[in-house]
Amino acid sequence: MRSSLATLAFVAGAAAALAACAPRTAMLTTPGPDGQPAPAGESYDPPGSTITTGRPITDQERITWTDPATEVTVSNEFAGGRLSGFEPLADGTLRLVFRPENAPINNSAWFAFAILAPTERRVTVELTYEGGDHRYVPKLSRDRLHWVPVAAADYRHDAAAGTARVDLDIGPEPLWVAGQEVTPSAWFDSWTEELVAGRGAERTDIGSSVRGRPLRMLSFGNATSPEGLVVIVGRQHPPETTGTLGLVGFVDTMLGDDPTALEFRSRYRTVVIPLVNPDGVDEGHWRHNAAGVDLNRDWLHFNQPEVRVVRDALRAEAARYGVPVVFAADFHSTQEDIFYTHTPDFETVRGDLVARWLRAIAEAVPDYEVVEEAGGIESPNSKNWFWSEWKAPSVIYEVGDEQDRGVIARVADAGALAMMRLVLEGGDGR
Ligand SMILES: [Zn+2]
Repeated sequence: MRSSLATLAFVAGAAAALAACAPRTAMLTTPGPDGQPAPAGESYDPPGSTITTGRPITDQERITWTDPATEVTVSNEFAGGRLSGFEPLADGTLRLVFRPENAPINNSAWFAFAILAPTERRVTVELTYEGGDHRYVPKLSRDRLHWVPVAAADYRHDAAAGTARVDLDIGPEPLWVAGQEVTPSAWFDSWTEELVAGRGAERTDIGSSVRGRPLRMLSFGNATSPEGLVVIVGRQHPPETTGTLGLVGFVDTMLGDDPTALEFRSRYRTVVIPLVNPDGVDEGHWRHNAAGVDLNRDWLHFNQPEVRVVRDALRAEAARYGVPVVFAADFHSTQEDIFYTHTPDFETVRGDLVARWLRAIAEAVPDYEVVEEAGGIESPNSKNWFWSEWKAPSVIYEVGDEQDRGVIARVADAGALAMMRLVLEGGDGR
């Protein structure tokens, strides 16, 4: 697959060996699959997640701090940064503290900081959390564009304590350390500008976030008389970079020059809102928007401006063409790859298209295990709104936190090609 991700490279390999470091259950939170209702008697979400009118958050202090004893400097003063406190320990370790924007909260314990020192040296940092536990294998970058997972030998995850220790080689140039590749709103802007300049996509500002950041929609394909509309959204949850990598690969293939993609664009229209929560991403939040709300629980009451803007823009696109929404996907991340779907009794405008699509991915990527979890429409999330609004074949596409980045690209490419082929074939598959 040709990738437009020229600005975000990632060396895979070490991450796979570390994927066993699954997060443990937090004391204050109840982590679990993303966007799904809990089985009877259980709760994946922390209490109150579906009350979306707003809760106070605490903004982190933006700070660059130098330890006077060691002259080691740490900073969170960049978009996507998150660092809440620090404490030099007697043994020379630097303890770092990370807090969420509010609590209780899903255990997506995001961290992102820069570290440097006047001379080259090896230091140990301890990653500690309030309101959650260590979850993400640290990723390192010297330029915030190219990232590598920390070497296994330099990383010790204490699952019982919910902390981790990381050995870092630092010097006068900053080393960035984060839970995932950091992709702030400016990164999305660069990517979408590239698609506008080089691939003929259109970009529209559709509204603003709580703090006034623009919400942007990409559109491409038949703009006069399409046979149907494809809807793609992403990044409602700030730390979920792997979902973005899946979305980028998927859209890249849809805009490519494969004959299936060319025919698809001549007959169908696609709209993409790749960053629904720019405030959360740029502020380094663990889960919520600037009003302290899990946006993917607000697709029933639409209390938050981000979700209202996206709903209204998508409704306007569907109404403008008066055509069915033939496929709708919302990209996320969780511990392992999983496709959240609807059970077969939820009839769609394209029959069992999602089931056929998942079978096609399994055939196209035989070394990849397609994991599906089908459910109802109880949770007030995007997928369930897509179905309720349009009877669209709908999916929440979760990409594993530490999934090999090459596998993410291959599955996204195969998924886009299979979706386009199946929609072009038409019929409802029965
Ligand atoms: Zn998510």
